[in-house]
Amino acid sequence: MKTATPVPTRIFPPVNVTFLYLINKILSGMENLRDAMNALVPVIRDYFIFDNIVVFLVDPMTLNLDVAYARATGRGKSAEADVAWGEIIGSQVIDSRQVILQEPQDTTQIERLHRPFTLGVPLISHAETLGAIIFIRFGSPQYTPDQIAFAEYLADQLALVVARENLMRENKRLEFQNRTFQVQEDFISTLSHELRTPLGFIKGYTTTLLRTDATWDEQAKEEFLTIIDHETDRMQDMISNLLDSAKLQSGQMIMDLQVVRLDVLIKDVILRSKLHHPALDIQVEIAEPIKPIQADPRRLAQTLENLITNAVKYAPEAPVKVKIAELADGVQIDVSDAGPGIPEKYRSKIFDRFFRIPDSQNTARGTGLGLFICNQIIQAHNGKIDLTSRVGEGSTFSIYLPERVEN
Ligand code: ADP
Repeated sequence: MKTATPVPTRIFPPVNVTFLYLINKILSGMENLRDAMNALVPVIRDYFIFDNIVVFLVDPMTLNLDVAYARATGRGKSAEADVAWGEIIGSQVIDSRQVILQEPQDTTQIERLHRPFTLGVPLISHAETLGAIIFIRFGSPQYTPDQIAFAEYLADQLALVVARENLMRENKRLEFQNRTFQVQEDFISTLSHELRTPLGFIKGYTTTLLRTDATWDEQAKEEFLTIIDHETDRMQDMISNLLDSAKLQSGQMIMDLQVVRLDVLIKDVILRSKLHHPALDIQVEIAEPIKPIQADPRRLAQTLENLITNAVKYAPEAPVKVKIAELADGVQIDVSDAGPGIPEKYRSKIFDRFFRIPDSQNTARGTGLGLFICNQIIQAHNGKIDLTSRVGEGSTFSIYLPERVEN
């Protein structure tokens, strides 16, 4: 009868204070378990023999056991993909919060892989069981009390890394939640403030027109109705901006890509802009013939109209210039004004949702959504929008669009 092959005895240096200090030093800077284990495994293998190692962590939401790290070396390499072997002992260790040692049931098995010696140690931090670390040796030798104590020391150190990682993750989640709350709050306050203004005009002039104790001549009536009409348009624009921005934020705005001729599109945009701003002084410079590009014509027109409206709002009475030039792989559209310019410190924020330069409120009404929408639309075309500006001289918004939008 064949007997089990004995494993050659290997002499390991004793675990001393210097070694424990080294482990502590390796782990103290670690912010995640994977990096910690990758750094630790080669170091501890010189002192502590194991073929497979696996770390299970308890998912705080589902309470399921997840494999956070698994590594198979030497004799257990063939079992690398199969971490199921540690799952039962992992659950037992976590449930009992105790070290568990398992010896092979059948020591007469010839094949080493059928004679696993398993050691499971709980990862506990602040009375919370975070998971378990499982070591496996195929064939022998059994774990000595010193080695078990060492494994417990490692587990305590790793529990600190996991607790640190969990804390950082929770911090990030809270920060994100906070930002989301802030955005929602800004959204509601902007919405109520901005909608209230045109609504106030509409209500005021309608009530005035309906008064039975006063009569208005035709000219006054027309004036009041023009204001109502204008303010209703404003409200409509604002609501579509809010809806667009919500759609863009959640990735629900789909671009309807078509072949677009920019010379035709820009003429259309200017015509419409002049309808809204009859005093608009605008020059267009197109390097004709300009190559057609792939774009969503409605969204691109919306972007250009927005930039022109901003020029009218923030650089009133100054001329606006639109320049379209061909690039090797696309086109560039510049919308320039000779207005007050945008100070350097605000330029990185200018495309943020709801951002307005603090004293803009005194210059023109707005929601801070326009440039956010422009930027998102251009990005959805795989393009880019940039701002160059000199305070006191003016601003140029430059749009770069590729010839074709690759997915
Ligand atoms: P809104 O016009 O509704 O405030 P935008 O997102 O279109 O929102 O613009 C954000 C801010 O950028 C504006 O509040 C304004 O302060 C500034 N801005 C935009 N365009 C110009 C411009 N052409 N010149 C100077 N400032 C501008």
